[in-house]
Amino acid sequence: MLKYFVSTQRTQGERDNDSNSIPGPEIVDLASLSHEDPDSPICGCARSFVGITSRQTSTTAEVVESDMTAAQYIGRFHAGLLALGREDNVETRNGVIDAAVELLLLAAMWPVGTVVERRLHEIRVRSFPAES
Ligand SMILES: [Zn+2]
Repeated sequence: MLKYFVSTQRTQGERDNDSNSIPGPEIVDLASLSHEDPDSPICGCARSFVGITSRQTSTTAEVVESDMTAAQYIGRFHAGLLALGREDNVETRNGVIDAAVELLLLAAMWPVGTVVERRLHEIRVRSFPAES
């Protein structure tokens, strides 16, 4: 079984600047950074995850588990970037692998149902399943 992060409504509102415009649970990547402050009132990039297909953002994500393979999961990231018009070259593929594998390793550390938030380069636990 593979563990990974999807967007979630759980714990939304715990921070004043929480938001989630992703319609349903969706596999997320880290939003690209153009600012360093996770509490910036101007832009939420440093506190946001981004849906790999919808490209909408959420400040909360949750660990889920399925029988998807790691290769399929990485393939979903790749397809999401190509759909954005990104060129399919070595740079794109290496970037996909770096991003997807980092998130898989993080998700593997926590039980299913753990809710996380992003603080710039750090992913922090907001709520463990037993507490929620
Ligand atoms: Zn920003």
